[in-house]
Amino acid sequence: MLTPDTPGLRPGSVTPLPDPPGLRPGSVTSLPTSPQFAEIVLPLPVPRPYTYEIPHELAHRVVPGARVVVPVQRRRVVGVVTAVAVAAPAVTAKAIVAAPDEEPALTGPLLELGRWISRYYGTPPGWALRALLPGALWSVQRPAGPAEGTDRVVALVATLPSLLERERAFKRSPKRRVAYEALEALGGSAPMRHLVERLRLSRAALDGLVRQGLARYADVARPRDPFAGLSSPPPPELTADQRRVVAGILTTPPETPVLIQGVTGSGKTLVYLDVLRSVVASGAGAILLVPEIALTPQTVARVRGVFGDQVAVLHSALSDGERADAWRALRRGERRVAVGPRSAVFAPVQRLAAIVVDEEHESSYKQGSSPRYHARDVALVRARLEGARVILGSATPSLETLHLAAQGRVARFELPQRIGARPLPAVELVDLRSAERVPEARGVPWTTALDEAVRGALGRGDQVILLLNRRGFATYLQCPACGDVRDCPHCAIALTVHQTPPALRCHYCGHEETIPTACRMCGKEIQRMRGLGTQQLEHFVALRFPAARIARMDLDTTSSKWAHHRVLERMAHGKLDILLGTQMIAKGLDFPNVTVVGVVDADTGLHLPDFRAGERTFQLVAQVAGRAGRGPKGGRVYVQTRAPDHHAIRAAAAHSVAQFAAVEVPLRAPPHPAYPPHVGLARFVASDPVAARAQEAAEGVAAWLRRVNAERLQNALGVLGPAPCPIARLKGRWRWHVLVKATEPRAIGRVVRALGARARGVVVDRDPVTLL
Ligand SMILES: [Zn+2]
Ligand SMILES: [Zn+2]
Repeated sequence: MLTPDTPGLRPGSVTPLPDPPGLRPGSVTSLPTSPQFAEIVLPLPVPRPYTYEIPHELAHRVVPGARVVVPVQRRRVVGVVTAVAVAAPAVTAKAIVAAPDEEPALTGPLLELGRWISRYYGTPPGWALRALLPGALWSVQRPAGPAEGTDRVVALVATLPSLLERERAFKRSPKRRVAYEALEALGGSAPMRHLVERLRLSRAALDGLVRQGLARYADVARPRDPFAGLSSPPPPELTADQRRVVAGILTTPPETPVLIQGVTGSGKTLVYLDVLRSVVASGAGAILLVPEIALTPQTVARVRGVFGDQVAVLHSALSDGERADAWRALRRGERRVAVGPRSAVFAPVQRLAAIVVDEEHESSYKQGSSPRYHARDVALVRARLEGARVILGSATPSLETLHLAAQGRVARFELPQRIGARPLPAVELVDLRSAERVPEARGVPWTTALDEAVRGALGRGDQVILLLNRRGFATYLQCPACGDVRDCPHCAIALTVHQTPPALRCHYCGHEETIPTACRMCGKEIQRMRGLGTQQLEHFVALRFPAARIARMDLDTTSSKWAHHRVLERMAHGKLDILLGTQMIAKGLDFPNVTVVGVVDADTGLHLPDFRAGERTFQLVAQVAGRAGRGPKGGRVYVQTRAPDHHAIRAAAAHSVAQFAAVEVPLRAPPHPAYPPHVGLARFVASDPVAARAQEAAEGVAAWLRRVNAERLQNALGVLGPAPCPIARLKGRWRWHVLVKATEPRAIGRVVRALGARARGVVVDRDPVTLL
């Protein structure tokens, strides 16, 4: 065990909350046996569970995985039982107040998964468990969760067998008789909605039957599902390639994870669906993870097309009640397939037999707040605990997954061809340093090559996708006289110029101010906008192609929950000519009429101070290029760049992961600084409103790491820093970080756990996806 007595870190923070004496009145008198105790994890940042007494009358429900309501100081909190029949604590324990679960909320494997998350990511156990259940189930006011959506049903309670009785009962109300006989014909009960809307029976007549004592109303549970209407026709026959991969997967032992590396348009989804069909047919359940559900309506529709009502779609737009309904339907086994973003990896699917991680390279699988888990890695652990199979899929797999495949720890299957043997689109690299631009473009990097391609596509009635991974109108506002750049008062980041509506905005903290008319430093009145954003691109393209129907998609266009969804639908139905936007439009979309894809500036993320900058750029450009030429007309891609020789750009142009990895993987190994996949990585970020205190805390962490490394870990760790983060100030806090690397995961685990449990104000991020 490490015993950190780190300067600046407060070991006092681990002391558990005191358990004041006093049993609940009344729970003692009726107890013939000696008291029993349970270990309860509370959703609080404390390192240990608490011990509570189990009241006799709740004993049958207080089992591991069950939620309970317990007193903590002056309030009540929902916690999860992790063990029963534990020893009596030294101080008198308080008693559990309520146990709302008939069936434990967390099964044994999910409880174990929570423990793993806590250990691996250095997160307090209560925070790890908090991620496993929907928020509504942690509510102490309604620990049973929000009421389920219900359907009102009318049911007959008395029979009128003889004609005479019937005539007497309905003498003055022929409408009631019609209603009665309709219900009778429907087997005695029917949903209110059906009777009123379809059969046009009057509510008054139904009310009358109830008043007469002949019928009653009942409310039955109806899961709310906003995706209910979304479906697509059954999938087409599998191609020979796809059949080969399905057969390969089914003969791979379930404990070996599988990677489907399929080029864009090769139909990976059809392979997942075929495998899942056999899972569901055998009576088992499955989880399908997608990066972001509003951006993948086509995938969701296909899953619905195959599994219909068996599917629960979990997504960010669900209300608390809808989320709880979906959770319950899965927990009871009423639905067998869960589809959703990263948190769906915790879906309580019964008899879980497969977890699919679609687009496994996506960084949105990593949670940005504690517990900072990666859903792909959690999927691998959960699958091992439940004996399920994991299927990872991507056209541009992460280097981590490729590394596992190279070591034989993941079985790789390739889909090297598009469906129908359609060729991958040709990609033309356009060098922005030398290529001719249209004269009207001024500040916009719009070359004649891209211009002619777009014009040609529009002339043929084809569709165009334009990618620019930078939202807003302009990247920053600069004074041409003194060079001052307007930056956020809370973050060390330039403010982005927005035009619809006009404002300067911080993309990190949301700070907003009016666009100034003069320089704050020298008073010069003309301020210049630099750097192209999607709003300006939209404006330019609209002027350039006035007849085209254009839609923009980025984080600023998401006023309503389903704005994206509707834009994508219009694109699918040919009601748009040009779709432009940020990385949102690069993923998973399948529009056969798109024949031209333009990457307006491929370099937006290429030079970020992050070892994954090249990998991200490769993935983004290769993915968006894959949107072109999915139909019989073929397609062409134009990638505008100032770095046409960069290996990320060249490999994306060749649609070749292998080509990218061949250059990138050695760049992350000695003599270069080592990075994943060669080593494991963890990052510790200290932040504070006072710059010196952030620095001091980071220095404390680094010094402690170096000492522990030398004294206890045989220098297994490489410790880098402390150094200011590339984004040195965020939301009013100064930021410093320290990195540790090691080929030995256990060494990283030990320091991550020690610092996670003890260092207040220091963010512990194991396997970080960003170093900014
Ligand atoms: Zn100035
Ligand atoms: Zn800010």
